[in-house]
Amino acid sequence: TGPLSGKAALVTGGSRGIGAAIAVRLAADGAAVALTYQHRDDLAAEVVRQIERAGGRAWAVRADGADPEAVRASVAAAADRFGRLDVLVNNAGAGVVAPFEGIALDDVDRVLALNVRAPFLAAQAAAAHLTEGGRIISIGSCMAERAAFPGGSLYATSKAALGGLTKALARELGPRGITVNLVLPGPIDTDMNPADGAGAALQAQLTSLGTYGQPADVASMVAHLAGDGGRYVTGAALAVDGGFAA
Ligand code: NDP
Repeated sequence: TGPLSGKAALVTGGSRGIGAAIAVRLAADGAAVALTYQHRDDLAAEVVRQIERAGGRAWAVRADGADPEAVRASVAAAADRFGRLDVLVNNAGAGVVAPFEGIALDDVDRVLALNVRAPFLAAQAAAAHLTEGGRIISIGSCMAERAAFPGGSLYATSKAALGGLTKALARELGPRGITVNLVLPGPIDTDMNPADGAGAALQAQLTSLGTYGQPADVASMVAHLAGDGGRYVTGAALAVDGGFAA
């Protein structure tokens, strides 16, 4: 039992990094958790085992966010698996830092498909299952709030789109008692952005706390929003960025 017991959640990109931490946390709070992944079935299975060892319920399904039918099917399969869907976490995303002039059309299409179209379609599919108290939580980025160094044009464009989606959906789904929010992580130590990688020292220095955050820091905010703490929070963007935007 926990604050989310009896609820079911879907976390996209739950095999590693921030998504895995969110899946583990929501399960620890009592939710049955479905998670998607692209390639790493081994890591997705490990997250499922970790949750089950702790007494929770979890299930992993492969769904490439760049494939619209796979996105829709994964939402339907998660709702079917647990007989309900209460929380959608749009987490899967691609990070790109590259000079504007050199970004190819394929890169633009790939990043927008995964970072923007997939959350849009997943929210649309989830809205058919969510009821009163339902939650849609997307993972944006502090880079959409403050372009603190060059190279973020495509990434910031994609993550800024989630701000529009969040506000518009909060208006549209509010009358049904469903909340829609955006979480804006700062530099978080994952495979995408390792705390010992090139450029990590600069990112840490750009925060107020002077250090990277951990995936569990983002998961705590998601759990707050997913639970009772999020009851009267909607259309909002919550930073978990160590003061990157301060
Ligand atoms: P990681 O690269 O560490 O993990 C990415 C996760 O997404 C994996 O589970 C991966 O699956 C999955 N994934 C990647 N591509 C696809 C795809 N095409 N279809 C389905 N799943 C996919 O990323 P992070 O944990 O660092 O980032 C998670 C989110 O947080 C992203 O949206 C990112 O933009 C955002 N973010 C991250 C920050 C950071 O500093 N780390 C800062 C701000 C925002 P698989 O294991 O199968 O490859």
